[in-house]
Amino acid sequence: MSARDLALVTRAADFAARAHTAQHRKGLAKEPYVNHLTEVAALLAEAVGDDDPDLIAAAYLHDTLEDTVTVYEDLVGQFGVEVAKLVAEVTDDKSLPKAERKRLQVETMPRKSARAQFLKIADKTSNLRSLVSSPPAGWSKARLLEYIEWAEAVASQARGRNAVLDAAFLAALDNAWREISAKVDEEGS
Ligand code: NDP
Ligand code: ZN
Repeated sequence: MSARDLALVTRAADFAARAHTAQHRKGLAKEPYVNHLTEVAALLAEAVGDDDPDLIAAAYLHDTLEDTVTVYEDLVGQFGVEVAKLVAEVTDDKSLPKAERKRLQVETMPRKSARAQFLKIADKTSNLRSLVSSPPAGWSKARLLEYIEWAEAVASQARGRNAVLDAAFLAALDNAWREISAKVDEEGS
């Protein structure tokens, strides 16, 4: 990786950490939001052997359009159009109701670029791991199981392009099914 590429990736990490600075994950441990971003970036850096700094930059930035004040033009200005387009590709349309957004993630996945599919698989892998290590506060067993089913529906539309990423996802899926199926149901929504 050239010095220029390394600068792009580290600037993306810096930008994302600052953009999400006041946010925590939904898990019981209330992890800093950036923990999820570094996990997704590391998964991709290890699994996707190609020298692809735009993909790793987009991994750090993947939730900025959805969850922070950042707009598309900010990303184009700071990181170039390729990175901005990739982040936009994995961003839901927030004007739509939640259920519709979830349905569209499954339906549109086969038409996304390979890099957007990689990013989504890594994103869902991280989230499935978190469901076990630090489940969102107040979620019932039924809701956790519903999330696992949906994550699998999304990833099944994106699998088959990278064996390492697929294996990481399937391990997280299998573990989440096992751990959450064994849970005693508790109050939650
Ligand atoms: P989501 O289902 O959208 O929340 C999951 C998202 O939260 C993940 O995709 C992840 O997204 C992020 N996240 C943050 N912290 C964690 C963590 N520790 N572990 C895993 N994921 C984490 O939740 P909403 O609150 O928006 O719920 C909306 C949907 O939930 C509705 O469509 C409805 O169908 C369903 N629902 C089901 C109920 C039930 O009892 N079955 C009850 C109520 C709602 P990211 O990577 O983008 O941060
Ligand atoms: Zn994410």
